[in-house]
Amino acid sequence: MSEARPDLSQILSRKVTVLGATGTVGVATLDVIRHARKTYGADAFPLQALTAQKSVDALALLAHELKPELAVIGDASLLSELREKLSGSGVRAEAGQEALIDAAKEPSDVVMAAIVGAAGLAPTLAAAERGAIITLANKECLVAAGPVFRKAMANARHKMVPVDSEHNAALQLLDGSDTAALEKITLTASGGPFRTWTMERMRSVTPEQAVAHPNWSMGAKISVDSATLMNKGLELIEAHYLFDLPLEQLDAVVHAQSVVHCLVSYTDGSQLAHLSAPDMRVPISYALGWPRRISSPARRLDLAQIGQLTFEAPDMERFPCLRLARDCLQSGGAAPTILNAANEVAVEYFLGRRIAFLGIAEIVESTLSAMSRETNGAAPASLAEVLALDAETRARAREICRAAA
Ligand code: NAD
Ligand code: MG
Repeated sequence: MSEARPDLSQILSRKVTVLGATGTVGVATLDVIRHARKTYGADAFPLQALTAQKSVDALALLAHELKPELAVIGDASLLSELREKLSGSGVRAEAGQEALIDAAKEPSDVVMAAIVGAAGLAPTLAAAERGAIITLANKECLVAAGPVFRKAMANARHKMVPVDSEHNAALQLLDGSDTAALEKITLTASGGPFRTWTMERMRSVTPEQAVAHPNWSMGAKISVDSATLMNKGLELIEAHYLFDLPLEQLDAVVHAQSVVHCLVSYTDGSQLAHLSAPDMRVPISYALGWPRRISSPARRLDLAQIGQLTFEAPDMERFPCLRLARDCLQSGGAAPTILNAANEVAVEYFLGRRIAFLGIAEIVESTLSAMSRETNGAAPASLAEVLALDAETRARAREICRAAA
């Protein structure tokens, strides 16, 4: 942020790589880029690489349309299919986990980290280490490996630009303000589909009900995280690493309309809010254009039509995942890495109908206590240590899930 503000033409000439291009955030990112090309000219945001895990058809279609230099499919068994679909397009095709990391290393100015879960760690870190601007949707990176990313970004010319709507809103509210006078950042939470449900009613929640988010259209994993409020817990940890604030200066409030995304409080008693339609193309546009603003195809907000904005304190009894995540942020060390891995496994078992919705918090809690007995509790200091603890936690969480199923 110390460097001079680049002019718009410099920003539009940034070369972009999208990791997780076929997901909800990836698709929204490419829509922002399409809109920029229509608005500013066909050469806006040239693409270096697009990646996906299994969606070979969707990846090939995007590559034909948007002409990145490289398309990578994580599932190595799909390489020949991808090559066939891209023959004659001029787009190189690669496959496998190493190829995902190599894609992140190819020279681009911006890397949109939009893979879901800890699978995004290695490619995103590779991009951070070579000094790309990281536009971060993949919050699990900071939850599982906050200190590792912090170290990688310490000497970076650019900071990480959050895409998560609340953190992106915080960045917008903080930019240019007197950060010494910052008192608190409050993230809003929609409360998810079960905001008003009793515990009794939540016992029989199905995966279909849990992924049907009232305001946002998102991938399955984050939709379940929103329904348990684990998402808000992960976001408190994410905010801790992004803005270097302790839990005491971070807060969450339930706001069912998802119109206000974040509130920043200053020592003079002022509280600034960021409002927009619940449309990821708003924070993505700000992240791609940062530190300037670019035109966005996002929906516009009509406050008169919305009428009322409501706020309430989150209920940690009915949504224990938020409490667990707060505890992990407070205790630090290995706890956030364990929390993240245990949650990924529990969500996978819930989506596979092998544990109940309320079982997610129970599995996470049991895994946290088992792992605290079995490990020394120190924060993993390198990617290798993070991945080792992540794998160990997953194995433990799966045992606990099988016992509970
Ligand atoms: P998604 O499930 O819709 O898409 C995930 C993308 O990652 C896909 O392109 C998929 O091919 C790829 N992928 C999946 N597993 C992979 C693996 N093992 N290795 C490599 N690539 C893999 O997810 P999403 O909703 O777009 O979310 C992506 C990330 O952004 C998550 O970390 C989520 O928490 C975060 N996020 C999403 C939203 C949202 O509105 N969707 C908002 C804020 C933050
Ligand atoms: Mg969010």
